[in-house]
Amino acid sequence: GHAHTKRGGGGGVRSQNPLRPDKNWGDPPWGVLTHPLPLQPPPAKYGGRHTVTLIPGDGIGPELMLHVKEVFRHACVPVDFEEVRVSAEAPEDDVHNAIMAIRRNGVALKGNIETNHNLPPSHKSRNNLIRTSLDLYANVIHCQSLPGVETRHRDIDILIVRENTEGEYSSLEHESVAGVVESLKIITAGRSRRIAHYAFRLARAAARRSVTAVHKANIMKLGDGLFLQCCQEVAAEYPEISFRSMIVDNTTMQLVSRPQQFDVMVMPNLYGNIVNNVCAGLVGGPGLVPGANYGHDYAVFETATRNTGKSIANRNIANPTAALLAACMMLDHLRLHGHASTIRRAVLASLDDPRTHTPDIGGQGTTSGAVQSIISHLPRA
Ligand code: ATP
Repeated sequence: GHAHTKRGGGGGVRSQNPLRPDKNWGDPPWGVLTHPLPLQPPPAKYGGRHTVTLIPGDGIGPELMLHVKEVFRHACVPVDFEEVRVSAEAPEDDVHNAIMAIRRNGVALKGNIETNHNLPPSHKSRNNLIRTSLDLYANVIHCQSLPGVETRHRDIDILIVRENTEGEYSSLEHESVAGVVESLKIITAGRSRRIAHYAFRLARAAARRSVTAVHKANIMKLGDGLFLQCCQEVAAEYPEISFRSMIVDNTTMQLVSRPQQFDVMVMPNLYGNIVNNVCAGLVGGPGLVPGANYGHDYAVFETATRNTGKSIANRNIANPTAALLAACMMLDHLRLHGHASTIRRAVLASLDDPRTHTPDIGGQGTTSGAVQSIISHLPRA
């Protein structure tokens, strides 16, 4: 079928170098990740202020959220946080309180909540519970080569759209007889079409040229076959955007050898998790890349690779970039675009100075040093 071949001459390679020196880092495409669906941000309250749920999470989450608050204070951002603590051992009631707070405010910023593998199977991942309860079906991350960060590849600029509610994350597993476990991977036409439409609308909104659907339909003929078929059908409704499909194993190889060929990517849940991590690694690591989870009604912002960073917690060495850029995506969602681009510019200007680099990107700097440098790059009030 046509959907296996590229339409349009350009393929997946964008014509312009996204790192050209005159690029204004605070402005789009950095600020394009406003939701392309009818999700409306909640209106501001008296005095133009917004209330946002803050879930600090475990590990490096709480310290990074303190830094976000400090940067917001210096940038005079009109956002008040309603803090809800949920951690690894928290009872399910705490998780439901957090979910209720997000329903009330419509928007949340969160750190990752640790999930202990040794707890019984009835203990579901709190992170997963939050995402599925709120039907946050689209996980979107933007992997872009950053100025000042040394990596093997340059000029990467990929939008990754991951189905966030079904697939391998159904939490449906059972031991049918001793020694035999079945894990159910759920693929539905409705949710596959929904995420495909999301990817194409995002591609359109962000003026992107191509979408690549990632799958393993040669082995999972029914499940991934359905996902792929839905993507092909939806692609036909967006004739100006070229579409191709790629098997997940080849995709990861192509990503590490020639990542510039990718523009927008769309895939089921687990492949999304893996591809997100590969792409974050390509542009410098988990401390740099922000991520968003959007549904029809709510939006939750966090780092792209959802790490807890337990081993580096409270040591003042975590890279604050991903959390701050996630906070900027949240500001864009609230249509506080001016504040978002001011902070983003300060973050990127600070990264340009290697003295501010934390150990994860090869420097000797501290978290608080990086944050102080970012604050010093904010325009004076
Ligand atoms: P463990 O220590 O048990 O392996 P962890 O919770 O520290 O787990 P993850 O949260 O999975 O590990 O993170 C993966 C890796 O990425 C870790 O080495 C962590 O230190 C690193 N990392 C994650 N976020 C950041 C960050 N913001 N800055 C620097 N390094 C980070």
